[in-house]
Amino acid sequence: MAVNSSKTPDPVKSGKTHHSMSNPLAKLGLSRRSDLILHLPLRYEDETKIQPILEIQPNRSVQIQGTIYKSYIQAKPKRMLICHLRDDEGEIILRFLHFYGSQVKQLIPGVKLRAYGEARLGFLGIEMIHPRYRLIKGESSLPQNLTPIYPTVAGLSQSSLRKLIDSVLSDSNLSDTLPSDLILKLGLPGFSESIMTLHHPPADISLAELESGQHPAWRRIKFDELLAQQLSMRLHYERRRNHDAPVMNPKGHLVETLLAHLPFPLTQAQKRAMQQIRQDITQGHPMQRLLQGDVGCGKTLVAFMACLDAIESGYQAALMAPTELLAEQHYLKAKNWLEPLGIRIVSLFAAKNPRERETSLTDIKNGHANLVIGTHALIQETVDFSGLGLAIIDEQHRFGVEQRLKLRRKGRHPHQLMLSATPIPRTLSMSYYADLDVSVIDELPPGRTPVLTRLINTSRRNEVMQRVEAACASGRQAYWVCPLIEDSDLLELQAAIKTHAELSTHFPHLNVGLIHGKKSPKEKTDIMAAFVSGQIHLLVATTVIEVGVDVPNASLMIIDHAERMGLAQLHQLRGRVGRGKTQSACVLLFQPPLSDQARARLQIIAEHSDGFEIAQQDLRLRGPGEYLGARQSGTPLLKFANIEQDLDLLEQARNLSSLILNDRETVQKHLDRWLGQAADFLLA
Ligand code: ADP
Ligand code: MG
Repeated sequence: MAVNSSKTPDPVKSGKTHHSMSNPLAKLGLSRRSDLILHLPLRYEDETKIQPILEIQPNRSVQIQGTIYKSYIQAKPKRMLICHLRDDEGEIILRFLHFYGSQVKQLIPGVKLRAYGEARLGFLGIEMIHPRYRLIKGESSLPQNLTPIYPTVAGLSQSSLRKLIDSVLSDSNLSDTLPSDLILKLGLPGFSESIMTLHHPPADISLAELESGQHPAWRRIKFDELLAQQLSMRLHYERRRNHDAPVMNPKGHLVETLLAHLPFPLTQAQKRAMQQIRQDITQGHPMQRLLQGDVGCGKTLVAFMACLDAIESGYQAALMAPTELLAEQHYLKAKNWLEPLGIRIVSLFAAKNPRERETSLTDIKNGHANLVIGTHALIQETVDFSGLGLAIIDEQHRFGVEQRLKLRRKGRHPHQLMLSATPIPRTLSMSYYADLDVSVIDELPPGRTPVLTRLINTSRRNEVMQRVEAACASGRQAYWVCPLIEDSDLLELQAAIKTHAELSTHFPHLNVGLIHGKKSPKEKTDIMAAFVSGQIHLLVATTVIEVGVDVPNASLMIIDHAERMGLAQLHQLRGRVGRGKTQSACVLLFQPPLSDQARARLQIIAEHSDGFEIAQQDLRLRGPGEYLGARQSGTPLLKFANIEQDLDLLEQARNLSSLILNDRETVQKHLDRWLGQAADFLLA
């Protein structure tokens, strides 16, 4: 129907893959037949009906048909070709701002046209600007199906893309990848039927169902996509598991000795996690375990026990943390707890002085160091382990896939443990982590009292300051967290410096410290040490303290402009207090006016202390992008399915994936369709 008939060469038929980004198909990521089959319309246009011109509603897209009774070129205010079209009862004006001489010759009185476009109310009545049109000679039937509108890029017209997709659809194998009894059980339509419906929906289909993605045809395609994701994650998992890993044989003496010296017993959940890890590392294949647990549940200790097991078995262990502050703190704790057991610990930071660094590197390389704790500095090329058996990543979501991989490569398929406090709602985590084993610490050490959390309008800042003063006067310590300023470290820094100056003046008899990301590692360490020892009463901080910092005597936290922070971040921040015996409090200062959603979110934090519950509520409020978007991994991106909206499909896909994983023929067929060459790697 469109006038543009520029022919795009058909790369699919020629069977070549296209790498050139100047090729519009390559830009769309369409290199294989199945890519085109799965290139689904964004929306549809209804060309199955002809609307009487008299009944046209402005601002709707419609198809009309009529005869030109007047046409001319208008010169002002802009040169354009104008055609007046008439059907039995109504009249409409078609305007063309860009036109060819051939069109002027073609669009003359007496010619019958069928046009599709958005109608609007113009100066002279109803009109269409640049409708798509074609000439009608004699009888011309209407299409039976809605017209698909595909995502495309410049250089590839809808009609060329449509032709290409149609030709691929007509001579491709659209047979089901899944056994029909399984599909039947799921209550979903077949693949071929679904794909054809989505490319060419019948005229009487429910557009609402189609456009909301809830039509059974859509559900089938989304299910298939989720299944491909689950399968590929599981295959990744299996693939890694196929390697030989160091077989650990810990006697458990080191762990026992450590526990005997700790002032507290392990929680049941910590014990369970430790057992699971111990079980894994004594197997011949690499552990791939995620240790998940709310802020403050004691993951570090579990990680240390795993290190002791590895060291006792004659291997080195490494612990990588995302910030210097955190790595330093782990280092100090390890010195405290593990050095007395004869463990030799080495730290590695980017900013270490060259001589110290050299010594550390030598110790790591010749095996003198049993445990190496550091930041990204650990994965630099110059770092060579003599026998890395266990690689631990703290706050794993702060690292990219590449970085995790680099740490693994420091050994020969070492066991891997990842720690995370990012609460993934339970409903999601099983599917989300289909490529990992998960241990959950679902219990906090006893004796912690939940942090009292209050929302306070920033106009009452003075009262809050008095409260801070009272707390510090009675020997407790406090954090004052400065506002998050998106995309500007500089402004954030300025805000912190200003707050520090203000609070220092306000409390002349208190020692007010300041910590932020721009301080040198040495300064940060000194400040934290002063805070830990109680010399600093009030610590003004940017969100650098968000992860991991552990100072039990700090029992009050003020968070300025809490409305700017995400719930997960607020929860992490608040987790810095409530670590000791005293009742802790957290004040969320907010700047009115708050939107309803912002208020609801802050209320979630105020009312709940369980990170998983908070995540679940947040998910309900905002959708899952936040959690899932953050995960950088080999997980194929989802084009069609929406994890939250399609949670039921996700669960079904997860269940089915474990049922069919060993049916390699089916898996191969399914992944071929969805992943192409990537699947060959997984199935090799
Ligand atoms: P997270 O899981 O957030 O990393 P940490 O490992 O930093 O938590 O532990 C938080 C605090 O709890 C630390 O001070 C740690 O020493 C303490 N802790 C760990 N396990 C226990 C336990 N079983 N009983 C009491 N305190 C514990
Ligand atoms: Mg931690």
